[in-house]
Amino acid sequence: MPIETYESYQSWDFSSDILPERSILYSLEPIGVGTPLVESLNSYLIRLASIHKTNVWDFIHNYIAPLFFLNQLPKRLSQKDAVDSVMWQLHRELDILMRPDAEFWLDKTKHVSQVVRVLEILTGRKDIRYLTLLPWQTWRISFNNIFNTEQPWCVACYQEWRYSNTPVYQPLLWALETVTVCPYHQRYLQLYCLYCRLSQPFFKRHGSEGKCFYCGAWLGRFVDLPSYSQTIGQKFDLELWFAQAVGKLLAATPELDKNSLIQDTQVTSPRRKPTLKQFLRWCYRLEISPVQGLSLLGIKSSNTSTVTNRT
Ligand SMILES: [Zn+2]
Ligand SMILES: [Zn+2]
Repeated sequence: MPIETYESYQSWDFSSDILPERSILYSLEPIGVGTPLVESLNSYLIRLASIHKTNVWDFIHNYIAPLFFLNQLPKRLSQKDAVDSVMWQLHRELDILMRPDAEFWLDKTKHVSQVVRVLEILTGRKDIRYLTLLPWQTWRISFNNIFNTEQPWCVACYQEWRYSNTPVYQPLLWALETVTVCPYHQRYLQLYCLYCRLSQPFFKRHGSEGKCFYCGAWLGRFVDLPSYSQTIGQKFDLELWFAQAVGKLLAATPELDKNSLIQDTQVTSPRRKPTLKQFLRWCYRLEISPVQGLSLLGIKSSNTSTVTNRT
């Protein structure tokens, strides 16, 4: 064949076609990492289950529990013991993994760390820990009794997400007992369903976010009483400042965590760690941001741009 008959083709560029790392489950991106409204781990689990077309109970049964309990089995087992141990351990873990309280899913415990590790294996993500308080482990603050016993919510946030067609979820901020006000809508968080008057559990085995666990009513509905505006005063301003301050801590957490929260041994450590509320009151009086307060307590952030004065 004479060379003149060859056609010339455009060359292909493969440089932008690098496949992302494979994961066992869909690598669902958590909402709001690095912002005050970062999603909580329990909320992420519910969304992850939903995207895999299953409920959270089956999701935990089929994906979380097997990886969770396998690590806890003895290394050497006879064939009979192995079957018994696996069945016993699986039932035990399944019972444990359905606890509805916030401490169980969000605290700085070994258990939460294990759940996070399993989810990281399944999704291939490295940011799941920011949906819990695990990164706050090294902070010189006492976090005893830090969580609400039930799940409060901001009706205005729910309405806004519904109208903008974005996912309805639970921010980690709402789980903390210190936070009683939405920092964005500047209104108190709701504690009871307006239809059945029942409070909401943190971890819902069924149903969808934004709907009452008991009666299924939409939780974004609200009725402002005539006296609502009268509650706005000095007490409300302080609670709003607390909510905004905790939001700033949550927003700064990934950056502080990357900088590995260098402990400054030169700084005199207080004999007793302050509670989160005491720490926030102290920051408020000093008119400093909570990130700056952490630095004064002996935790350095190399990114000083995150330190801002109270406005
Ligand atoms: Zn809100
Ligand atoms: Zn209800």
